[in-house]
Amino acid sequence: ITLKEALKLSKEELSKFKQELKAKIDAKPELNAYIDVNNVGDGVPIAIKDNIQVKDWSVTSASSILQGYIAPYNATVIEKMMEAGLSPYGRTNMDEFAMGSTTESSFYGKTQNPHSSQRVPGGSSGGSAAAVGAGLAIAALGSDTGGSIRQPASYCGIVGMKPTYGRVSRYGLGAYASSLDQIGPMTQNVEDAAILYDIISGHDKKDSTSMEMDDKVSDKLDANKKLTIAILPKHIDGASEIVKKAYEKAIEALKAAGHTIVERELMDAKFDISAYYITATAEAATNLARYDGIRYGNRVEGKNLEDTFIKTRSQGFGDEVKRRTLLGNFVLSSGYYEAYYVKAQKTRHMIKDQYDEIFKSVDLILSPIAPSIAPKFGELSNPMDMYLSDLYTISVNLAGLPALSLPVLKSDDGLPIGLQLIAKAYDEQTLFDGSLSLE
Ligand code: GLN
Repeated sequence: ITLKEALKLSKEELSKFKQELKAKIDAKPELNAYIDVNNVGDGVPIAIKDNIQVKDWSVTSASSILQGYIAPYNATVIEKMMEAGLSPYGRTNMDEFAMGSTTESSFYGKTQNPHSSQRVPGGSSGGSAAAVGAGLAIAALGSDTGGSIRQPASYCGIVGMKPTYGRVSRYGLGAYASSLDQIGPMTQNVEDAAILYDIISGHDKKDSTSMEMDDKVSDKLDANKKLTIAILPKHIDGASEIVKKAYEKAIEALKAAGHTIVERELMDAKFDISAYYITATAEAATNLARYDGIRYGNRVEGKNLEDTFIKTRSQGFGDEVKRRTLLGNFVLSSGYYEAYYVKAQKTRHMIKDQYDEIFKSVDLILSPIAPSIAPKFGELSNPMDMYLSDLYTISVNLAGLPALSLPVLKSDDGLPIGLQLIAKAYDEQTLFDGSLSLE
């Protein structure tokens, strides 16, 4: 059932539904979408990524260093959900500290793609996407720093939405790269995404970057609004055949819905990759400094304080997290700061400026999400290949824009591929309205 339908169920109906849901989850342990199921509260069950705090639940960001850590308070999104009659239901698997594109770096092992046991669900919110895609969750929360909601949504055949930076409070979200992170909805359809977005968004005095909301978008959804939508012919050139086919299909659907299609261009995605992986690792290295075994994280006792830090972090973090901490500290170190970090910030401004320019004359941009269908396990084991696979999603985070990924096509063997619509900052209404034409 959809979120909209579930919100109309009585307490008895919901409790019966949850029993059946639990049985379905238990019958499919090989999927490994949930780290565990905590059925508390009598509201509509929503699956929660393991980097969002629910009071008195374990929260680990799928890392060894946080095993046994219990959340002392609720994230603001959880408080808002509970006020609206939703209950957190289970924690979902993810890449360690949300660093990755496949959910393979989790302490809890891999999650399968619901459409193929040989393939990844995407990442880092792979558990949330697989749970919804397999019918084991009505809806889920994920977080998106560089595509982690939209890309797994594409691979698992569901809707994933990244709000404008500042729309949703980050209080209680395990920080990866604070200037890029946003929590967002992962759902079965566009309307449910709008409903869940309305519930979790709004100003929070505990997150000074969060914004006051206007009206609820889900009350005003309008599938008949005629929009001007930009397509990116040069951008699509390097994509795989299936992505090109999906793109063509989406353009036809948008035209048929009466939208005006215009051509625009974005700068070469190689600049996005460089700017993103410098910015994100610099912020991650800073954010993860708190896991020292003293303030946070499991301690591995050493000969002295420094040795304790080294042992704690060497044993507590996985390889990808270590790689990024090294990279982040390197680009922030004196002598390299100007050459890398400052340059990345300038590039970030250029990326934002080009979007501002395009949005002077268009309402939405249609863009790919991933280079192709979900990769096989191990296919992106070279970190550089993995970073390059983020080329279509990361500029949206660097520019702070809202974007929605939704399924458009299936390959011959039934693997879904999604595309995204991107809107100007704070224009979630147009984003949801336009997305309805692609459902
Ligand atoms: N794949 C990207 C990264 O590893 C994005 C991850 C995310 O959005 N959390 O940084």
